[in-house]
Amino acid sequence: MKKVELIFVPTPGIGHLVSTVEFAKLLIDHNDRIRVTILSMKWFPDAALDAYTKSLTALPPDGIQLIDLPRVDPPSLAPWKSAESIIDSFIKCYIPPVRNAVRDIVSMKCSSDETRVAGLVLDLFCSPMVDIATDFDLPSYIFITSNAAFLGLMFYLPTRHSLNSSEFQSSDPEHVIPGFVCPVPTYVLPSAVFSKDGGYAAYVKVAERFKDAKGIIINTFEEVEHYALSCFSNGQNPPVYPVGPVINPNGLSYSDSDDKVMKWLDDQPQSSVVFLCFGSMGSFKAPQVKETALGLEQSGFRFLWSLRVQPPQNDASNMLPEGFLERVQGRGLICSWAPQLKVLAHKAIGGFISHCGWNSILESLWFGVPIVTWPLYAEQQLNAYKMVKELGLAVEMRLNYRKDSDEVVMADEIEKAVGMVMDGGSEMRKKVKEMGEIARKSVMEGGTSFNSIGKLIENMISNN
Ligand code: UDP
Repeated sequence: MKKVELIFVPTPGIGHLVSTVEFAKLLIDHNDRIRVTILSMKWFPDAALDAYTKSLTALPPDGIQLIDLPRVDPPSLAPWKSAESIIDSFIKCYIPPVRNAVRDIVSMKCSSDETRVAGLVLDLFCSPMVDIATDFDLPSYIFITSNAAFLGLMFYLPTRHSLNSSEFQSSDPEHVIPGFVCPVPTYVLPSAVFSKDGGYAAYVKVAERFKDAKGIIINTFEEVEHYALSCFSNGQNPPVYPVGPVINPNGLSYSDSDDKVMKWLDDQPQSSVVFLCFGSMGSFKAPQVKETALGLEQSGFRFLWSLRVQPPQNDASNMLPEGFLERVQGRGLICSWAPQLKVLAHKAIGGFISHCGWNSILESLWFGVPIVTWPLYAEQQLNAYKMVKELGLAVEMRLNYRKDSDEVVMADEIEKAVGMVMDGGSEMRKKVKEMGEIARKSVMEGGTSFNSIGKLIENMISNN
């Protein structure tokens, strides 16, 4: 039987590329007829991402092949443009190189008796590239690196836009969004939907193309988002395949300080350390750094704090309160990049103050570590809301904090949140542990996500 080739186009950010590529590996593990080519777009230099991408070149070439696309001139956009609008312009610049690469692959495989191309798997931000697939008579699949609730928002946007094409206003009443049990407060929607600087337009543009895909793949699992997923099986949208949690089993370990962090954790008692980490782009200004330090100190708990500060500053040490490092010596450790997956897996970790990026949430559930919500950017406010209000799987500190605001979360609030998440006997901790076990079962043979991957593969293979 012929091999089946899928062409993956991930967005080159850590939270997107890693789970997309790990998902490609899962497909190959499920079915040995599948081959994957990853088209690698070049964004800003990123050491963690570069280390991960480099590790792919060591994989057996008959499974995953990596094609480095030429670097394109970055979009010349004003710095105040929203991040989503910058991503949209970046993806647009890459349409010609992606088209060329797909053409080359298709023409090469056409003359092959061994392999045929079965479709494109596009990161959600690459949804405008469904046109490339159509040009070559191929189906597209959209890969959502976030959750089903976010997909609900993506389905809601074009519907709302057809009735009201203006950006959202903070004074809007609640929104009835598919996938949410209750109407969603406007204050937890992603900053992009309020943006007059291209963010809203970029989101609508991306969301409008979802209906043109042959399937939508989500890094979530049935048991955690049962209600949301049930809303999408109405025949009005492409079939939705929950395939997660897709976790990078090796984590993103690349920094010299990883060993130091892990050794320090080895010396701490079980479940005694609260871990603070804010994703690939989480950073803070001086007043927030100071309050967080004071909150941790006041809490009396041990802590591991992955701390990065907002440019133009790059040194966090002079933002800490005077004498802080001496006072917390032995019970607190600050690092820049943290080997998050290994940290969450460590027995010393008792709680996680997180920016609520979806990969971080999945990783935390996987290891049964309860989260305190401190969203910063992208769709993290919505994730925090879902976890706290609808799923009861996280401790609320903030639902609507935004990275670009000047708001400061005060030390007392942080101290209280740390106390809540570190409460060893809490119902929340029990619930999170149970969900972690369910998450692991879902990807094992016979589990819901395992079976969903099987159905997806049938759909992909039956195209040919
Ligand atoms: N991560 C890490 N160390 C850090 C920050 C992030 O290993 O110091 C990893 C984390 O484990 C997760 C990914 O980077 O796999 C971040 O993805 P997420 O969706 O949580 O957030 P994003 O970076 O997309 O905002």
